[in-house]
Amino acid sequence: MKLGGRGEFQIIDYLRQQCRAAPGLVRGIGDDCSVVKVPEGDELLTTTDLLAESVHFDLDWTDLMHLGRKAVSVNISDLAAMGARPRYLYLSIALPEDLELGALERFFSGFLAACHEYGAVLAGGDTCRSPAGLTISVTAQGTAPRGKWVGRDGALGGHVLYVTGTLGDSALALRRLKTGDVPDSCLLQRHINPTARLATGLALAEAGIPAAMIDLSDGLLGDLEHILRASAAGAVIEIESIPLSDRFRSDLDNDPDLMELALAGGEDYELLFAASAEHQDAIAAISDRTAVPICRIGTIVSGTGRIRLIGPHGEVPLPARRGYKHFPETT
Ligand code: ADP
Ligand code: MG
Repeated sequence: MKLGGRGEFQIIDYLRQQCRAAPGLVRGIGDDCSVVKVPEGDELLTTTDLLAESVHFDLDWTDLMHLGRKAVSVNISDLAAMGARPRYLYLSIALPEDLELGALERFFSGFLAACHEYGAVLAGGDTCRSPAGLTISVTAQGTAPRGKWVGRDGALGGHVLYVTGTLGDSALALRRLKTGDVPDSCLLQRHINPTARLATGLALAEAGIPAAMIDLSDGLLGDLEHILRASAAGAVIEIESIPLSDRFRSDLDNDPDLMELALAGGEDYELLFAASAEHQDAIAAISDRTAVPICRIGTIVSGTGRIRLIGPHGEVPLPARRGYKHFPETT
């Protein structure tokens, strides 16, 4: 059955029924505004992400259930990167009239299941018709103890750079999909159903370990540049230390150029952070406790916002494309 003819109020009613009461949520879906309580001593952190059909996802290979999950995960990843505990999500959607009702229900079921897993609730949004393509905007709010959240601007010369998980899997999956191949299921999951590193980000921030942290949405080098610019520092990255999955590594053996995907491909949704070397043991303990590998990939150096890449035979040039840009600068 198509969506056409189904009023937005029926959709909102459906969502309202799906959403339970939650601590701190004084007024959820159904009024002009939501009303939430911020715990005493906490600060409220808010992030928003837009997903547009043909720009951020392709319905040829993305199921609506996974898209619902991903719309949540990419926002939770931003909260995790600042050490904020997820609380409230807002979902604004522009829906094409020819969207199947079942597809919309799959989207909501993925969305709400992911909210539940990350401990957040849907507290509001907006719904309208789209003449061209599906557009999804999610806003997420989280809380952190006052002053305990982590920005991008605290990296200092001498700090060690760490990254969680493995890099490049999502970009490799996307490359395979675009050439009509079916990627290995581990790679595909990393692309269509990423997991935000929430427990790890919260544990790191709670322990006061990261001096600066960011989640990797645009690619390692591009996102590292954000930390360096905000911190007025430089960095040295050891290419051979960059964590890669077994699948990525075996493809890399056949095609060394794939390394660029680990350096500058996007949508890893891993955490990159700078920390003083004294935290090494505490970082290893958090990695064990949250079952997420955390790997040392280089160091912060004082001075410029420059990145030096060191390979097995010395310094190598930076790839020209260092991160995803929606509006590439013209030269
Ligand atoms: P208004 O016209 O005053 O903006 P709406 O009719 O758009 O109100 O929304 C009514 C209620 O439904 C609000 O609480 C709003 O947050 C909620 N809502 C609308 N669309 C969505 C959605 N896609 N997801 C969650 N809540 C929604
Ligand atoms: Mg409205």
